[in-house]
Amino acid sequence: MSASTLPNATLTATYEAMTPGSAALAGKARELLPSGIAHDSRNFDPYPLYIQRALGPVKWDVDNNKYVDYFGGHGALILGHNHPAVMAAVHAALDRGTHFGACHELEVRWAELITRMVPSAERVRFTSSGTEATLMALRLARACTGREKIVRFRGHFHGWNDHMTSGYSNHFDGTPTSGVVHGLSDSVLLCDPNDVDGITRLFNDHKDIAAVIIEPTGASFGKMPILPSFLQVLRDLTRQAGTILIFDEVVTGFRVSRGGMQAACGIIPDMTTLAKIVAGGLPGGAVVGKKALLDWLDFKVTTAKGLEKIYHPGTFNANPVSAAAGIATLETLQNTDANDRANAFGAELRRKMNEVLEDEGVKWAVYGTYSGIHVYTNPDDADITPSTFNALDFAPSMLGKARGAGITSKVRMGMLVNGVDMNSGPSGTISATHGDEEMAITVDAFRATIRSLRREGLLA
Ligand code: PLP
Repeated sequence: MSASTLPNATLTATYEAMTPGSAALAGKARELLPSGIAHDSRNFDPYPLYIQRALGPVKWDVDNNKYVDYFGGHGALILGHNHPAVMAAVHAALDRGTHFGACHELEVRWAELITRMVPSAERVRFTSSGTEATLMALRLARACTGREKIVRFRGHFHGWNDHMTSGYSNHFDGTPTSGVVHGLSDSVLLCDPNDVDGITRLFNDHKDIAAVIIEPTGASFGKMPILPSFLQVLRDLTRQAGTILIFDEVVTGFRVSRGGMQAACGIIPDMTTLAKIVAGGLPGGAVVGKKALLDWLDFKVTTAKGLEKIYHPGTFNANPVSAAAGIATLETLQNTDANDRANAFGAELRRKMNEVLEDEGVKWAVYGTYSGIHVYTNPDDADITPSTFNALDFAPSMLGKARGAGITSKVRMGMLVNGVDMNSGPSGTISATHGDEEMAITVDAFRATIRSLRREGLLA
């Protein structure tokens, strides 16, 4: 079953006809899991897909439908699914044991690679996720500065710890979201991205800012882009104020370039948070940075200096299987042009999808940087030309706004029934295994989606 076998059906009817196995699993899941899911981004009407296997740039659902994959393990899989070097390393590690409850050689090799590749990394502390890495980065910054306030940017995502909830998709005034205490949200100052006056005012008004944390290519991997000149402003302001600058490179690390966005733009933060690619598609993360900062986790240094060491256990920190996958991934990135290939595919895909929009007379745009794509559905019908669209001409709040009538999830559904899985942004990340065949399928799927939306009266 595919879209072509049901040419006149609605997207939803086609999706339902293609995916009875997913429907059955989703029905059962709803009795067991809130919304039937394990990650908020999998919430999808009428029900999400259930995937059974994946290889390189593609994956198959439980009904054996094949999809070009732009989820890429939420950005973790720059080498695609089941890269042979990563799989060999994982299998070898599994055969030796999944958890030693002890130090092991791989964590040392893994840390060595990270310090070689990421300019800000003098020391590494492994965590089990990006959320844990950003939480630890804030704690380190507060400990070493003796200050409490944190500056974050509206729309930027840093995981789901209590400091990171207001101002991501709601509570843009900084009030606490459900379940978060006021005391905590009071210590977080929100600023608009690229707002030089705003950030300067915050530094003038508050002398107790411990850290500024930012997604360095902008919210959601450049969906709302950050100007490199703004990163320089942050570097200068934080240096003058004795504030710790943290780049959250959970997505951009080892993706934008081998050394992440900091290596690409030459602006080096004091600390960096990593996850996703760093662990090669298995669970893992790390906070890395200057030795003097990470020393707050060091038994001997803190004792010698009379400081209270920051406590940091974590059952799965530097798990040996994740370490093996991480090492194989980072070594492959070091030894190949995988980053460049993913970035080049991104540029070409954006160009071709914009050609589709122009051919079809649709005033949307496909944009992004490096190996990311975002579809701007132009909710306020601005007069734009897809091929010359510059996201920096638009306020971040505009870029984050969804067009009415649930159109963004309809775009996702249109792409799915034509064999492509993007997220409901609609956005996607690209791997080094995406090639000509995947490009052609994606461009055709986009054209078919636009035409289906027109047929359903969702697009003028
Ligand atoms: N920071 C950024 C920029 C992210 O994109 C994410 C996850 O998508 C996180 C932090 C949280 O990472 P994790 O999902 O591993 O907790």
